Amino acid sequence: MRLPELVPDPVELPAHLAELRAEVRSFLDAERAAGAWTPRADVWLSGWDPGFSRRLGERGWLGMTIPVEYGGHGRSALERYVVTEELLAAGAPVAAHWIADRQIGPSLLRFGTEEQRTAFLPGIARGEIYFGIGMSEPDSGSDLASVRTRAERVDGGWELTGTKVWTSGAHRAHAFFALVRTSPPDEANRHAGLSQLLVELDRPGIEIRPIPLLTGAHHFNEVRFDRVFIPDSRVFGEIGHGWAQVTGELAFERSGPERFLSTYPLLAALVGELTAQDGVDAGTRRRIGALVTRVWTLRNMSLAVAGALESGAAPELAAALVKDLGTRYENEIIDAARLLCAVPPDPGAEGGFARLLADSVLHAPGFTLRGGTNEVLRGIVARGMGLR
Ligand SMILES: Cc1cc2nc3c(=O)[nH]c(=O)nc-3n(C[C@H](O)[C@H](O)[C@H](O)COP(=O)(O)OP(=O)(O)OC[C@H]3O[C@@H](n4cnc5c(N)ncnc54)[C@H](O)[C@@H]3O)c2cc1C
Repeated sequence: MRLPELVPDPVELPAHLAELRAEVRSFLDAERAAGAWTPRADVWLSGWDPGFSRRLGERGWLGMTIPVEYGGHGRSALERYVVTEELLAAGAPVAAHWIADRQIGPSLLRFGTEEQRTAFLPGIARGEIYFGIGMSEPDSGSDLASVRTRAERVDGGWELTGTKVWTSGAHRAHAFFALVRTSPPDEANRHAGLSQLLVELDRPGIEIRPIPLLTGAHHFNEVRFDRVFIPDSRVFGEIGHGWAQVTGELAFERSGPERFLSTYPLLAALVGELTAQDGVDAGTRRRIGALVTRVWTLRNMSLAVAGALESGAAPELAAALVKDLGTRYENEIIDAARLLCAVPPDPGAEGGFARLLADSVLHAPGFTLRGGTNEVLRGIVARGMGLR
């Protein structure tokens, strides 16, 4: 039996990208020094700061891979990779633009109409238009084929009725792509009859209700549609092709550096705390060394996926693997921080190790769930290897 490639060909970052990295670092240093934000853990879910997103947009660091004619910068996926990993490693507040920049831009380029591209891409690249993800529903998370939100054909468009859930940032985003049923379920082909609609979240008939996190903070939502009219101009891609479109989107969603860097600011702070102590024992040094080695390996795997995406491939198997390994690693940083450092977590602290630890612990339950649970991802990898 010939096993499929689990990781695409390795990618070496071209030397000239060191210049871009240095530029991003000095921008972030200046922002931090000016007190514009404090490094936090899990910033791509919780660090919502439109001002920061706009400043990135002004620098040309959003919509980097979007062509210039749509307001983007026509740069490579690897240049974008360098910028995003620097932002995450610094714990900068990137949540407002994250989903729009990561997956909506590429999806609009792939499946959007010319009018949709012109309407949304320039604002995404400026850091002014934000999107959510409208996939999950009550009883439909891992098994997305079972979504029940339905769109019925009406004059000039579609009428939407149903409920989406766990929708990060919907209360502040301008729009999301809703995965909906446009024809009745067919048990013989569960992936048929699904479509995507681009839903602007200020339309009449939409109710957005908060679902607080363990921290008490409001990031999640339940989004209800009561006969919401969606014009034909907001059909995304082809009616009936929703499943193929969504699975393509998931490759972008699962493989990025956010899947192993949510708690990187905590690792950096832990190293800072340990170096400030007199004499760190060999066991502690070994444990930190192992964590640093692992992050480097994960980074190389994720970079290989970014390289494959750049060349037009859809490395879904490798993306699933990076997400499974990466999100487990994020939790191991928290375990190490709790064991190796005597500073207790403090959710009320302004910043620093105690606050990063508290944020990380309280956000950790979501790491292995969001974007598809690890059990399901392992099922995808097993199927890809011909094991099930
Ligand atoms: C922080 C966070 C942010 C999120 N943001 C969004 C968002 O913005 N938009 C959005 O649409 N969704 C979002 N989600 C939802 C997320 O994608 C779902 O929670 C996830 O897909 C799991 O679905 P579920 O919660 O319905 O669990 P279920 O599918 O009910 O799964 C429950 C358990 O059963 C296991 N399981 C299910 N099927 C199988 C199987 N075939 N084999 C083995 N085990 C299985 C799962 O692994 C899990 O442990 C977010 C979730 C989190 C935690």
